Amino acid sequence: MPYRTIIEPFRIHTVEPIDFPTAEARKAALERSGYNLFELHADEVIIDLLTDSGTGAMSTSQWAGMMRGDESYAGSRSFYRFRDAVTAITGLAHVIPTHQGRAAERILFQTAVKPGDVVPNNTHFDTTRANVEFQGAEARDLVIEESHDHSSDYPFKGNMDVDRLRATISEVGRDRVPLVMLTVTNNSGGGQPVSLANLREVRSVCDEFDIPLFLDACRFAENAWFVKTREEGQQDRTPRDIAREMFSLVDGATMSAKKDGMSNIGGFLAMNDPALAEVCRNLLILTEGFPTYGGLAGYDLEAVARGLEEALDPEYLRYRIRSTAYLADKVDRAGIPIIKPPGGHAVYLDAAALLPHIPASQFPAQALACALYLEGGVRGVEIGSVMFGKRLEDGSEVPGPSELVRLAVPRRTYTQSHIDYVGEVLISVAERAEELIGLRLTYQAPWLRHFTARFEPVE
Ligand SMILES: *Cc1c(COP(=O)(O)O)cnc(C)c1O
Repeated sequence: MPYRTIIEPFRIHTVEPIDFPTAEARKAALERSGYNLFELHADEVIIDLLTDSGTGAMSTSQWAGMMRGDESYAGSRSFYRFRDAVTAITGLAHVIPTHQGRAAERILFQTAVKPGDVVPNNTHFDTTRANVEFQGAEARDLVIEESHDHSSDYPFKGNMDVDRLRATISEVGRDRVPLVMLTVTNNSGGGQPVSLANLREVRSVCDEFDIPLFLDACRFAENAWFVKTREEGQQDRTPRDIAREMFSLVDGATMSAKKDGMSNIGGFLAMNDPALAEVCRNLLILTEGFPTYGGLAGYDLEAVARGLEEALDPEYLRYRIRSTAYLADKVDRAGIPIIKPPGGHAVYLDAAALLPHIPASQFPAQALACALYLEGGVRGVEIGSVMFGKRLEDGSEVPGPSELVRLAVPRRTYTQSHIDYVGEVLISVAERAEELIGLRLTYQAPWLRHFTARFEPVE
């Protein structure tokens, strides 16, 4: 077959204008924001790659479905359509809607985790880690070694190190490990996929010790596509069939529908254990709402029900994974170090490699994210020492494991020319990399400090 561009599998139906703040306005906005891009107003951003969470475009089918939203407080028709869509894909028996992923995490960990426990994961996402730690437990990352080698082309860098999992359980004792989690794809580890083979191995270790296994399933469809295209023997299966198998290997899942639910809000907690589900439902009622809406409007449940199906469409997934790889190719050809191979939803720039003159204590990834904004109004997010580092009592900083800037690609939102523009901005910044300076932290909150931290440039 002749080469053909992989095109967006949709036409544009409704447009949303972009604002073009001047370079001066961007500089003023950055100073006002304390060099924290979370503080910017959206109209101060030209291309917003802060996150792919809830920022995607919905389909005509989703918008049409929202008109069928049943706003009954209890027993809404929309809930049953939502539940059936989740069950059809996951096979999990109990489906509890939540307003987003972290609500599912909070309810699960508050129910299942106690102080002194250890929760293993390939890599905890920031809210997952914070919710584990909030229960007085330890969040332990056990991703394979290859994950730390940013230039390795290993196809499943999200895999868990099964030997370290077994060693961890033996070391702390089975009774202190209430559950094991696997994050697919591994967001904080570069959006890297987990293979079915690894999932089966982790399952068998959990069986050995009789420990429940939960999936952090936010990007289950993208993970299924990587399995289809990279794992031996999986090429002829549909993403849906692969997703079914992924869920068949776990006892439960937490999900943010703002990712592969293709919706602007929503999530769920699902599990097979009826007793655990009952406790979780009661907690849900306490803070989120009745178990047939869980903090969502009936129309949100409709949008998620349809979104979950659309996320598994092979034409969509082919385009989705290619559009991320397209940005990565541009950056790579310009000689900017990135995590390889590119993840499903984002390209991760390696700020430590690009800015070796800025020490971790001066937050090189935060400095790079700010420089991209100043240069071209492109907003990414720091995944480095601001997000995962810690300040000790004496004021010194324990750095995070790496210094990355994540450029997350919202679903079905930007076109190829937007991404070309981002590539051009990146190249301009990289050309004057040695001129960039670090940042000093001037304010931080007790947890999830990256959302509200403030900085000033180091002179
Ligand atoms: C987004 C995300 C979450 C949290 O979901 P929210 O909807 O933002 O609360 C948890 N885990 C992973 C891997 C995520 O990407």
